[in-house]
Amino acid sequence: MKKIFLTGNPSATKILAAALAKGINRRKIGDRAFIIGLEGDLGGGKTSFLQGFAKGLGIKEKILSPTFVIMKKFIIPAQKTRFFKFFYHFDCYRMGTEKDVLELGFKEIISDPENIIAIEWAEKIKKTLPPKTLWINFKFINDKKRKITILK
Ligand code: ADP
Ligand code: MG
Repeated sequence: MKKIFLTGNPSATKILAAALAKGINRRKIGDRAFIIGLEGDLGGGKTSFLQGFAKGLGIKEKILSPTFVIMKKFIIPAQKTRFFKFFYHFDCYRMGTEKDVLELGFKEIISDPENIIAIEWAEKIKKTLPPKTLWINFKFINDKKRKITILK
């Protein structure tokens, strides 16, 4: 089911993301990683969303907007998780082709059920992503308002 949210400031976006993260972290083990594809406008709030998401997983490190790094791996603290162990943040903004992400061992990372993976600009590697991917679209409405659509 499609869910649409309107947020009026960055904290509202982060709170929404933290709630989603907690829900995902309570899910039962799958046979592959849990993948979230974030797509949509530049400045739409994808990185801000993932800062709240990581916090919801109990991760203390700050999620940054990667400039040249396209992948970062975080440990999900044991007391906060029942199953998932790692959170991967990918940003495909500067990526040329799907080959670039495959060279980072992407196939292996998405096969491991202990991983939660969030990918900014996931539309660039759509062909590589499994049909079960949870897609979230970010739309810039005005300087403070963002429309966040969780597609299913
Ligand atoms: P993206 O990763 O999609 O390019 P960022 O999260 O890096 O977007 O940037 C979003 C920018 O918009 C940040 O500077 C943030 O402070 C600002 N902002 C303003 N209102 C919101 C909102 N409602 N939700 C998220 N970010 C917002
Ligand atoms: Mg970003």
